[in-house]
Amino acid sequence: MTTERPGSDDSTTVVRPRLTVVSGPSGVGKSSVLAEVRRMAPDLYFSVSATTRSPRPGEIDGTHYHFVDRDWFQRMIEAGEILEHAEYAGNHYGTPRGPVLTALDAGRPAVLEIELQGARLVRRAMPEARLVMLMPPSWEVLVDRLTGRGTEDPAVVERRLQVAREELAAAEEFDHHVVNADVRQAAADLVDLMVGPASGELTKPELTNPQGHLSTLEQSQ
Ligand code: 5GP
Repeated sequence: MTTERPGSDDSTTVVRPRLTVVSGPSGVGKSSVLAEVRRMAPDLYFSVSATTRSPRPGEIDGTHYHFVDRDWFQRMIEAGEILEHAEYAGNHYGTPRGPVLTALDAGRPAVLEIELQGARLVRRAMPEARLVMLMPPSWEVLVDRLTGRGTEDPAVVERRLQVAREELAAAEEFDHHVVNADVRQAAADLVDLMVGPASGELTKPELTNPQGHLSTLEQSQ
């Protein structure tokens, strides 16, 4: 499905709506950055995942997640209604397929905020998707953010750090890295990637793979 760019000087310009997958380790600030992306680009479609985990205080069913039980989740998979799914920290998470395809068909760029296994599955199912990893400015900052939250017990924090190590080790599988040193800047960079030019036309170095940043992270872990 393609759509004409509104207000384009060249009325024959055709823009294909893009599916962007945003991943990043726990504690990197995905929620804050994506909340800012929503403010900056309210027309994007943000997928609402299904999950078997329990709602946290303040989370609304149908807005933050579709909170479902395991049987329901399994039935959705069997009915082919799930685009990708993965288990994370003992719970199941999955992207409902229909709403994402409906948004793209209507010309709306769509955004999935999912973990690494799911990102890999989307890569396989929809190779045209753009995969972006949100990175911490340094490993120390990530550890501080995870331990400083004070809401999880130490075993949970340690498990999340282990998962974070694994996720960061996979950063090179992603098309782009955005460093979250400043929420507004990271959000602006993400919006560029979600609605901006195709990869070959990007010129800003931090929106392509910053190998220097990656090796700094690897050394400090
Ligand atoms: P949380 O429980 O903290 O909301 O999310 C835990 C992890 O699950 C996060 O890394 C989040 O990105 C990921 N996640 C949320 N929805 C989905 C989904 O639909 N599919 C996959 N694969 N991961 C998801």
